[in-house]
Amino acid sequence: MDLPRKALFFVVDDDPVTRLMLCRFLERHGYSAQGFANGALVIEAFDQVRPDVVLMDAKMPVMDGFEACRRLKARPDASHIPVLMITGLNDDDSVDRAFEIGATDFITKPIHWAILRNRVHYLLDNIEAGHKLSVAARVFDNTGEGIVVTDSLAVIQSVNPSFTRITGYAAQEAVGRRMSLLKSGRHPPDFYEKMWSDLLAAGQWQGEFYNRRKDGSIYPQWANISAVYAPGGQIENFIAVFSDLTALRESEENLLYVTGHDVLTGLPNRHLFHERLSFVLSEARESGFMVWVLLLDLDRFKVVNETMGHDVGDALIVEVGRRLTAILAGRGSLSRLGGDEFAVILPKTEDAQSVAQLGGLMLQAIRIPFVIHEVEFFVGASIGIGVHPLDGEDAKTLMKNVDAALYHAKERGRNNFQFFRNEMNSRALARMRMETSLRLALERQEFELYFQPQIDLASGELAGVEALIRWKRPGHGMVSPGEFIPLAEETGLIIPMGNWALADACRRATGWFSSGIKPFRVAVNLSGLEFEQPDFVVRVTEILASSGLESRWLELELTESIAMGDAVETLVKLKSLSEVGVRLSIDDFGTGFSSLKYLKRFPIDTLKIDQSFVRNCAADLEDAAIIRAVIGLAHSLNLTVIAEGVETVGQVEFLQGHGCNEVQGFYYSRPMPEAALLEFLKRRG
Ligand code: C2E
Ligand code: MG
Ligand code: MG
Repeated sequence: MDLPRKALFFVVDDDPVTRLMLCRFLERHGYSAQGFANGALVIEAFDQVRPDVVLMDAKMPVMDGFEACRRLKARPDASHIPVLMITGLNDDDSVDRAFEIGATDFITKPIHWAILRNRVHYLLDNIEAGHKLSVAARVFDNTGEGIVVTDSLAVIQSVNPSFTRITGYAAQEAVGRRMSLLKSGRHPPDFYEKMWSDLLAAGQWQGEFYNRRKDGSIYPQWANISAVYAPGGQIENFIAVFSDLTALRESEENLLYVTGHDVLTGLPNRHLFHERLSFVLSEARESGFMVWVLLLDLDRFKVVNETMGHDVGDALIVEVGRRLTAILAGRGSLSRLGGDEFAVILPKTEDAQSVAQLGGLMLQAIRIPFVIHEVEFFVGASIGIGVHPLDGEDAKTLMKNVDAALYHAKERGRNNFQFFRNEMNSRALARMRMETSLRLALERQEFELYFQPQIDLASGELAGVEALIRWKRPGHGMVSPGEFIPLAEETGLIIPMGNWALADACRRATGWFSSGIKPFRVAVNLSGLEFEQPDFVVRVTEILASSGLESRWLELELTESIAMGDAVETLVKLKSLSEVGVRLSIDDFGTGFSSLKYLKRFPIDTLKIDQSFVRNCAADLEDAAIIRAVIGLAHSLNLTVIAEGVETVGQVEFLQGHGCNEVQGFYYSRPMPEAALLEFLKRRG
C-alpha cells in the first residue's frame, strides 16, 4: 500500500473562492485536489474515494468542519487520514476543540500560503514515514528469518516471531537477556572474540555458527549482524538477522542418501530401505495408516550364479529389478536389499487383496523366461508379506515377521507368496480364485436373472418385478450378488456383467409381453461404475432398441450415492434417460446421503425404502417414524414409494396404513427364476 505518487487532497470550504484557491495552490505543488462545499458532501465522497489529506474549514453550512472531522475519525476506514483544520476562529477554544475531535493540525485564515505549504509537506512526509515504519514492522513480524535487536552491550531489546519459532524463547523470555543466552558451547572463545572484533571494525559480520535452543538442542544458523550508529558515530544497536540451517542440512543429508543406492540396479540399497521404512512407520504411527512390506527372494539364484557365472547372475539381477519396477509402476518403493533379495514398501494401502494381487503380478513377472547372453532360462521367486501395525509396530519386528513369511513361502514349494498371517493367505487365495472364475463366468453363461414381484398395495395387483442377478458358480452352487458384485466393481467386470443383466432383462420382458402377458415394470439394478460410463445412456437406448422393449416398462435402480454424485453430470444423464422414457428409482433409500434439493430437481419416479427400516417397523418407533417421513416426502415430491424386504403381514398392514404405494418381499415371493415367475403370474391370473 504505497503512498500514491500524487497525493490527493480533499478541500472542504463553503467559500468558493477560498476553495478554488486552495485547490489551485495544491495542484501547483504537484498534488491532486477535489473541492467540497460542506462537511456532509465530503462525508459522502468518502464512500467512493479516500484522499490522503483533508483540508477542512471549520464554519460551514449544513455540516460544520468539527462535526465532519468527528465523523471521519469515527470511521475505521478513514480514521488514519489526517485532517488539517482551516479556520478563521483563532481562539483557543476552537483549537482545543479541533484537536479533541482528532484533527491532525490547525491553520488559521487568512491563509498564510508559505505556512500552509510547510505544513502540507510535513504532513505528507510523516505519512510516508509512517508507511515505511509499518512496512518495516510487517517485515519484522512476518519474515522467516529470526531478527534480534540488541543495545550496544548485546542486551536483547526486541525479537520477532520467527526468533521465537527458531529458538523456542518467547519475546518476554529473551528481552533483557544477553545474546550469550543462545551460546551453544560448540565454538571456542576465540571464535566469538574474532566475531566481535570484525563486527566492531566493519560494522557488520556474517557467517555460520551454532546456537542452542531453549530445549537444549543445537542448530546451525546463518547470521548477518549489523551495527546501527547514532548520529554521533557511537554504536547504538546491533541487529542480527539469522536463518535456521537445519532444514538445509537435512536436505544435504538427503543428497548423501543418493549414495545409498545399489550400484548394480540403481535401486535403493538395504541402508536406504531401512531409513525409508523407519520413516514411513513413524508417519504411520502418527497418522494410523497401514504399511505393507513385500520381501522377494529369487529361487535358486545361487545355482544360476555358480553354474552360469557371476556376470550372468548380475545381469539377471538387473533384469529382475527392471521387471519389478515396471510392475510396481510407482505404487511402492522398491529396494534391493542385497544378493537376490528385493523389498517393496507399500504405505497407505488398506486391503490385503490388492497386496496379494501385486504379489501375484511380481511372481508372474519373474516367471517370464530370462534371456541373458543368448541363453534362455527360468527362475522363480518367493515372496513374504507383512503389514504394520498387525505384524510389527517397529521396523525390526515387522521385518522379522516378513522374513518368516518368506521362509514359509519357500517351504511351500517356492514360486508363491505368503502373508505372515495365515488367515490372509486363505482369504487372498479364495478371492483370487473367485476373480479368475468371475472373469470366465460371462463366457460360460453362468449368470442368471431372478425376478421378485412388486405388489401395488391399493389394488393388490402386480406392479412390476425387480431383476436380481445370480451366479451359478460351478462347485459353489448359487452365489448371491452380495458376494461377487463388490469384486466385479473393483475389477471392472461389472460393466460387461451389468450390460448382460440389462439386455437379458429387456429381452425376457419382451418375450413375456409378446406372449400375451399384461405388461408390467421391470427394474434393473445399476452400480455406480456402469452409470459413470460416458456412453451409458446410449447403451441403454441401444439395448432397448435391440430387445424391442418399450422404454416405459424399464426401470433403473440407482443408489443414493450414484444419484447424488457429480451433480451436473448426473442431472444431464438422468434427464436424458427420463426423456428416453425410462423410469428411475432410488434403491435402499435412507441408508445413504440424499440431498432434498437434488431429489426435487432430478427426474426420479420412485423411492425404495431400504429393508433395514422395514424389518422392525412394527416394533421400532424410530424406524416407523423414518418410514412415515419417507412416504410423506415421496408423496410431496410426487414419487411412488416401494418398501423392500416385506416379510410379515404386520409390516404389510403398517405400510398400507401409512399410504405406501408398493411392497416387495418374501411375504409375497422370494426372487425366483423366470419359469417360477411365469407360474406365479399364471396362478394370480
Ligand atoms: P437390492 O437391489 O436392494 O435388492 C434387494 C435384495 O433384498 C435382494 O437381495 C433380495 O433378494 C433381498 N430381499 C427381497 N425381499 C426380501 C425380504 O423380504 N427379506 C430379506 N431379508 N431380503 C429380501 P439379492 O438378490 O441378494 O441382491 C443384493 C443386492 O445386489 C441388491 O440389493 C442389488 O443392490 C445388488 N444386485 C442384484 N442384482 C444386481 C445386478 O444385476 N446389477 C447390480 N449392479 N447389482 C445387483
Ligand atoms: Mg434393487
Ligand atoms: Mg434395495
